[in-house]
Amino acid sequence: MNIVRVALDLPLPKLFDYLAPDSDESDIGRRVTVPFGTASRTGVIISLAQASEQPDSKLKTVTAILRDMPALPADWRELCEFCARYYQTPLGEVTSFALPPMLRRGKLPRMTKVAAVSPAPTSRATVPGAGARDINSAVVLPPLLAAQAAAVAAIDAPRGFACFLLHGVTGSGKTEVYLRAIDAVLARGGQALMLVPEIALTPQLEGRVAARFPGADVVCANSGMADAARARGFLDALGGRADIVLGTRLSIFMPMPRLRLIVVDEEHDASFKQQEGLRYSARDVAIWRAHQLNIPIVLGSATPSLETFHHASTGRYVMLELPERAVAESMPAVRIIDTRREKLQEGLSAALLAGLQNRLERGEQSLVFLNRRGYAPVMACPPCGWVSRCQRCAANLVLHLADQRLRCHHCGFETRVPRACPDCGNVDLMAFGRGTQRLEAMLAERFPEARVLRIDRDSASTPKKWQALLATIHAGGADILVGTQMLAKGHDFPLLTLVGAVGADAALFAADFRAPERLFAQMMQVGGRSGRAALPGEVLIQTEYPDHPLYQALIDHDYLRFARTQLDERRIAGFPPFSFQAMLRAEARAMEQALAFLAAARSAAADIASGITLYDPVPMRMQRLMTLERGQLLVESTSRPALQAFLAAWMERLYALKMPAGLRWHLDVDPLEF
Ligand code: ADP
Ligand code: ZN
Ligand code: ZN
Repeated sequence: MNIVRVALDLPLPKLFDYLAPDSDESDIGRRVTVPFGTASRTGVIISLAQASEQPDSKLKTVTAILRDMPALPADWRELCEFCARYYQTPLGEVTSFALPPMLRRGKLPRMTKVAAVSPAPTSRATVPGAGARDINSAVVLPPLLAAQAAAVAAIDAPRGFACFLLHGVTGSGKTEVYLRAIDAVLARGGQALMLVPEIALTPQLEGRVAARFPGADVVCANSGMADAARARGFLDALGGRADIVLGTRLSIFMPMPRLRLIVVDEEHDASFKQQEGLRYSARDVAIWRAHQLNIPIVLGSATPSLETFHHASTGRYVMLELPERAVAESMPAVRIIDTRREKLQEGLSAALLAGLQNRLERGEQSLVFLNRRGYAPVMACPPCGWVSRCQRCAANLVLHLADQRLRCHHCGFETRVPRACPDCGNVDLMAFGRGTQRLEAMLAERFPEARVLRIDRDSASTPKKWQALLATIHAGGADILVGTQMLAKGHDFPLLTLVGAVGADAALFAADFRAPERLFAQMMQVGGRSGRAALPGEVLIQTEYPDHPLYQALIDHDYLRFARTQLDERRIAGFPPFSFQAMLRAEARAMEQALAFLAAARSAAADIASGITLYDPVPMRMQRLMTLERGQLLVESTSRPALQAFLAAWMERLYALKMPAGLRWHLDVDPLEF
């Protein structure tokens, strides 16, 4: 009896058996539509079988095996299987996520028929290592700096798997190194995959890559793309037509038959970790992928994650340093502004105001960095104590004066700004604290001759608006930029010479042990925006803790000192990378239910938890979201294999636990958010 075992997008950790009379080996990896309950579903055939554990009478027959595109290859299925295992997620959920939505639904984009009959691309693509093609740089390239040349040579040395950390500040020429390494791979007929953080994938970078390889087929992939375009890119990669795939975290699931190099730019970036569904780290999966294919991988950053830095220092990864900027003479001068003894004007120090004035006079751009959007983080009525709270979350509603709304930044709830206090009728409601809108208003008032431009997720709410803002900045159409971390990444602003950071202190004492690491990276990154061309840059950081080692390390641009201090602290505290973690989270109508489930989960682990630390179930820091109460249980071990073995055994028991109606839970392996 011909049976196919199918991965279906269902929250059950198993495959589903169907009869498929006309199936054979070549159907493994094909999409298939099957009847399920009263509906029809599309899944992926993982294996064939002659017998099923289910009684024959229960077996249904497949509706159709979709043979209109090449089967997903074995290495792609292994990749999905690894993710399913490592992240404790049902294989069907992984394969479903790994496919572009259109293919997942059993459809195909229009163009594939056309591509299938056009012989040129397919023939060159189907020959592995088809040899040198004329797709290399058309432009005349500047000679590499010695450190760049050494890095390219190291990456390009034939040695199978190797993980490189390319460490260099913004402007040190990391991208140039990636491009040369990619060039070498293409010249030998290989494919290259370059992962970038969500926000950094701009036409600017696409343009740079496309201009560099005019004859190459460059495929972009991100979740914001239209369905058909994404599916087309996937098929181009699968068919071997794409030479370079450039994309956000999801592009790690691109099938690439001749993949010979992976680059992860800004490897420390939190957007590589998905925070819902399949909670994978694209960076970590990329390292596994490189290992699987026995190819080199390059992780690049000015401020590597401490995990990566630790591996590079202990020799597991190869450290490649780019010690100086490629073009600008020097690094921006970082100055710490002690705000303890100063009366600030709307949150800005005299030094920062003078710096802004001075840049205005010289016709240069400034950026004031504040990582909080909206006008003010909360509205309140001082006489009666009312504050603008979200009804659904344990959070305040943020005042957005621009469109007169109060908004929850967690669940999206919004309402009109009340004219008077809802509790006592007082009409003098106060806005407390400061967001980008308030800063923008203040700067416009203070510098009436300046063109002030705000860049945050509100002003850049669509890719189109975001591109328009970037274009304005590049054209010199703005004098003072007010922005959140959106502006920190991957953009060259040649006229920008001053960066002021306000409100940075909050991250120094946050409960999350990774907060200082993020702050340091953010400050280095935002500082790196200034002085990228001929003009020297300056960074002013306002703080009430001027002596804090983090700021002191920033003055010296000394990532190594910062990283070593942080690693010492982590070692003493037993935090990652000196331990491995997983977080079980539960949400329910009532906190007692969530905590009771977690307590039961903890008990269920009792006899399988050797070498594992199970902490007490506690409410999450953000206790309530969308009216659901949330709790968490942290699991830790000094051994990754021990943790993995434990999680696998534990999951089986968790699926068997009784749950009150409405309770939902998930496991987050290597969690980044606490
Ligand atoms: P990063 O990726 O580290 O920020 P880039 O590779 O973007 O650095 O390089 C910064 C700038 O320096 C770019 O404008 C790039 O074209 C230029 N550049 C890089 N390497 C060289 C070099 N060897 N000679 C001249 N210019 C270079
Ligand atoms: Zn809310
Ligand atoms: Zn009131």
